[in-house]
Amino acid sequence: MAKRVYTESDVRAHLAKGGSPASMPKDIILTPSARDRLREATGNARGASAAAPARATAPGEPILPNYIFEWPPGADPKTPDEIQAFFTSPPIEELKRRMCDIGRRMWEREYTDGNGGNLVVRVGDNLFLTTQTLISKGFMSPETISLVDFEGKQLAGKYKRTSECMTHLAIFRNQPKARATCHAHPVHATAYAVAGVRPPTCMIPEAEVFLGQIGIAEYQTPGTPANAKAVGEVAKDHHAVLMLNHGVITWGDHIEDAYWKMENTDSYCKTIWIASQLGTDLKTITGGQARELIELRKSLGMKDKRENWKECELCDNSEFRPGVICRNPSPSPPSSSSSSSSSSSSPSPSRNDESEVLVQRITDLIIEKLQA
Ligand SMILES: [Zn+2]
Repeated sequence: MAKRVYTESDVRAHLAKGGSPASMPKDIILTPSARDRLREATGNARGASAAAPARATAPGEPILPNYIFEWPPGADPKTPDEIQAFFTSPPIEELKRRMCDIGRRMWEREYTDGNGGNLVVRVGDNLFLTTQTLISKGFMSPETISLVDFEGKQLAGKYKRTSECMTHLAIFRNQPKARATCHAHPVHATAYAVAGVRPPTCMIPEAEVFLGQIGIAEYQTPGTPANAKAVGEVAKDHHAVLMLNHGVITWGDHIEDAYWKMENTDSYCKTIWIASQLGTDLKTITGGQARELIELRKSLGMKDKRENWKECELCDNSEFRPGVICRNPSPSPPSSSSSSSSSSSSPSPSRNDESEVLVQRITDLIIEKLQA
């Protein structure tokens, strides 16, 4: 009898149902990518550590880290037994350990205090791992992680999920590219959120590439549907969102990525704050240089709402410090993306035009006076 060929998605489906590498049928042929996936799961099952599993490459090629959790679409476990088997499967146990590791890193960097902060990882069409409520993020263990669906209903795990879960889920609902979210109250970035100041742009290239412009979500009581709605909207256009009078929430391709964006955001805010104390104007790169960084960001797969902005708008930090404004009069009506995206961050072209008319009028009056 011909042997059955197992592809990578067959292996994923097997693991998603709670199967292990050891329980794979014996009399099968594995495709190369199926073999790689199985090897990765075998490593995970051995508790391979929080180090990045390697993405398989041809022999001799450099290895790329790959933290992305993928699942076969339409194959979420359904019955209680299937869900429980999935929830305790080796790849999910590895993710739980990784979430605990990131919680410890957040606490050690003073991004969370008390029971603050939470983490969510998407692991299916309608499945999410989440941290529990009322726990210090520095001292979590894998059994404290629970599994919820898109409505926040707890499907597995003995501890109650975080009350801020719905805000995270709103990001996944609005931003299909999000695979993980990270929320914390890091001191420097939260200070900006309390002052209601959007961190300026065009100061540090890595921040332009990996964060883009930082978003601002209006204040709403944490954990409420209104908070979820406000954050979900802003996360469509921003990887990092300052929640006014509250803290920061970030999203990424995987939980490491979401956490890195938290580090990037707080370090950026800290650096700008210190630079602001040095008694000199802050220097910025040019709009043209910013444009190059946005192109680089796009080439790394991160969309940027600023791609259609005029160059003079890209480094317009008038909201952060008065005086730096987009000086070029708009020769044509702004595109819709430009006008909608810049509505909260930069003076609108019509306001600029009005200002220019006013400045011209005042200049004329002064010249008239001088000539009189
Ligand atoms: Zn919070």
